[in-house]
Amino acid sequence: MRILIVEDEIKLARLVKEVLEEELYQVELAFEGETGLDMALSGSFDLLILDIMLPGMSGLEICQELRQEKCNVPVLILTARDAVPDRVEGLDAGADDYLTKPFSFEELLARVRALSRRRLHAEDVGNPVLKLADLEVNLETHRVRRGGKLIDLTAKEYFLLEYLIRNAGRVLNRDQIISKVWKYDFDASSNVVDIYIHYLRNKIDGNSSTKLIQTLRGTGYSLRVD
Ligand code: CA
Repeated sequence: MRILIVEDEIKLARLVKEVLEEELYQVELAFEGETGLDMALSGSFDLLILDIMLPGMSGLEICQELRQEKCNVPVLILTARDAVPDRVEGLDAGADDYLTKPFSFEELLARVRALSRRRLHAEDVGNPVLKLADLEVNLETHRVRRGGKLIDLTAKEYFLLEYLIRNAGRVLNRDQIISKVWKYDFDASSNVVDIYIHYLRNKIDGNSSTKLIQTLRGTGYSLRVD
């Protein structure tokens, strides 16, 4: 799930990015309108969070432009407090939802979840499955299959695999994996990641000639087809 935030309050943008990354979303930032529009049009995002008042081009203009280009990505608009006309204009411009500043992160996350569910259902009704080669991870049921065969994972192994497949192709270092999957600090010398990768590798790659879990010496791990 990739999210683009277009917001010129840099501190707020970075804070929201951190909060979303805690929830395993991948987040990119743009600080002004035109850059935001270009990035959004690249089509590689599943959700956009647009502030209205931006240098260059407003959030509403970005939204209108995207809809004109037949880009249907869900859009969450951030509006100034009590600016009722903004909300109406936002929905008119083709936004899917709006959030009034200042907002709580719980509220933001709830909106993001609702919009991403809508997205999943629109794309692949009731079947939110991420695939890499013959590996399938169902984000709703947490069932994992390799070559059609069901694989039994512990909760931790599942969340590690989900993080890897959401970031398929990227190299993830141990610190990133610990902070996303374990969410609290382990001793820097802890080899918990290596141990769990070992478990996961036995279960996922053990019986297959195509190895998906790659070790990059001194760097970290990556889930990919080489
Ligand atoms: Ca602004």
